[in-house]
Amino acid sequence: MYKIAFVTFGCKVNQYETECMKQLFREAGFAVAEKLLQADAVVINSCTVTASGDSRTLTALRKIRNAMPDAVIALTGCYPQANREEAEKIAEADIIAGTRERIGIVELVTECLGKKQRIVRLSDYSSNDCFEPLRCTRFDNNTRAFVKIQDGCDQFCSYCMIPFARGRCRSKSMDLLYDEVRAIAKEGVKEIVLSGINLAFFGKGEGVDLANAVELCANTRGIERVRLGSLEPEMMSGNLLRRLAAVPQFCPQFHLSLQSGCEKTLKAMNRKYTASEYLALTEHIRNIFPECSFTTDVMVGFPQETEEDHRESVAFVKMIGFAKVHVFRYSRRKGTRADQMNGQVPESVKSRRWQEMTAAADETREGYLRSLVGRTVPVLFERENSTEFHHGYAPDYTLVKISRKNPEKSLRNQIRSVIIEEYGHDCCIGSLVPERY
Ligand code: SF4
Repeated sequence: MYKIAFVTFGCKVNQYETECMKQLFREAGFAVAEKLLQADAVVINSCTVTASGDSRTLTALRKIRNAMPDAVIALTGCYPQANREEAEKIAEADIIAGTRERIGIVELVTECLGKKQRIVRLSDYSSNDCFEPLRCTRFDNNTRAFVKIQDGCDQFCSYCMIPFARGRCRSKSMDLLYDEVRAIAKEGVKEIVLSGINLAFFGKGEGVDLANAVELCANTRGIERVRLGSLEPEMMSGNLLRRLAAVPQFCPQFHLSLQSGCEKTLKAMNRKYTASEYLALTEHIRNIFPECSFTTDVMVGFPQETEEDHRESVAFVKMIGFAKVHVFRYSRRKGTRADQMNGQVPESVKSRRWQEMTAAADETREGYLRSLVGRTVPVLFERENSTEFHHGYAPDYTLVKISRKNPEKSLRNQIRSVIIEEYGHDCCIGSLVPERY
């Protein structure tokens, strides 16, 4: 029996796809190696969102090749798909396969294990590509399962490589989703996180939408929580929000990707909303979900961003009161329109702006966590990874810890009410509300 190992970079969608490939290999009789060096073959699932993402992928590939000269190494994912010329020259990998070839990865690796050879499978996306029927129903001991339901993007933000790496917008069928979620629920998982490259476009042109997918998950026996991955603001309609509010299992955490709080920069990024529309949307959502949280991604140092633009963006982030902000430095990507723009910002300026935006993000986070003190929230407890605390997540995705009075006792995969008593840097601390029997 051959042993297979995986190295994954990037987003939750990439991690989900690795779990799907792992399942395909298991179904084909492979064993998943406990340690990388024990493997006969290694699949590297790459990311190309930032230049540092590319270099991390290539560094890992070279390290693995040096450590495992005889292993079959497959480089797949967004890097080879979006950087074909460079990828085809990579000698360290036996197999170079794009994001359209994951479904056939077992055959490619088996062929290469049979007779060591170089295989390059890179093909272009076309507008009528279907959603590849990958599925994953095994989540080793997890309480939460990420399920990819949408792929591709038609937005072409001026800084982004993803439309080139992932093709046009397409969605998983409701039947495939139903089968997958039912199987996952049978594994004892209680929370589903629906994810995608541009999730809010799920069902585009197919007569269904995100609310249908959430309702389907919520109506599956055993599923007690449904959460959404990263969302683009322009697709969050009032009708969609009201239907989500009618689903008791829906977790009101909205990861609404902002990128910048400056109107001028949003326009240059080719984002499909203005800062004032974003603000109005958050107010609308807060009216429908008073206990919701907002998390987001913000970029600093976009070409032509002035000090004044940066200050406008920082002030906007503070105004929204995000629970969490992921701050990124703009990364030049060959092939994007932003890469051709003049007025590229020096790295030293990007670093200083990154620090200022991160300080603003920490401030809003502290304000958000402080506002939760005194509130009682249902917490889905996860694995105990310390003898001191049980920890889990509230519906707004706040990490909640309670002291472990009895080290033998586990609360794993239980949803229990917790009264929040204090807050820390990245979590809240509380105690269990006694259960009334
Ligand atoms: S919406 Fe924009 S940033 Fe997001 S994947 Fe599409 S092109 Fe990239």
